[in-house]
Amino acid sequence: MTGYLAPEHRGEWTDPKGKLHHRTADGSEHVGSWLTCDTCNPVQVLDAVTYPDRWVDVKDLRAAYAEAKAAKERADEREAELKAKLKTALAEATNGALRSALHVPGYQPLLLTYGERWTVDSKALKADLPMVYVQFAKLGGSWTMTESKAKP
Ligand SMILES: [Zn+2]
Repeated sequence: MTGYLAPEHRGEWTDPKGKLHHRTADGSEHVGSWLTCDTCNPVQVLDAVTYPDRWVDVKDLRAAYAEAKAAKERADEREAELKAKLKTALAEATNGALRSALHVPGYQPLLLTYGERWTVDSKALKADLPMVYVQFAKLGGSWTMTESKAKP
């Protein structure tokens, strides 16, 4: 079991109805995952009141991030659109050849290739062969930043 921390070791268990529960430090019981529990891990809010000394920097970063994110979204959309058109043009011109290339002077050649890969249906594996799933499961963790849907 490579790095897999079973729910019981995180103080979590599933009731007969499939609902997750966890035990808190004071011994009481909460419903849901410990990690996302609002009581055990309340959201720590940073605002001008709680973070006065670096508030100006963070405010500027937030504004710059919003601008960069919007610009990236526009650029990503444009890139995807152009890429789709080029792929279609190449596939049409080469009658769907599995490997083709577009050479335009002054630019790197564009290569269009067809590939296949196998993936594992981890949801089905977990359901049908839970012991195998646990044997190869790895626990990871990362910090995620998302934009809340709440109004600013
Ligand atoms: Zn809790």
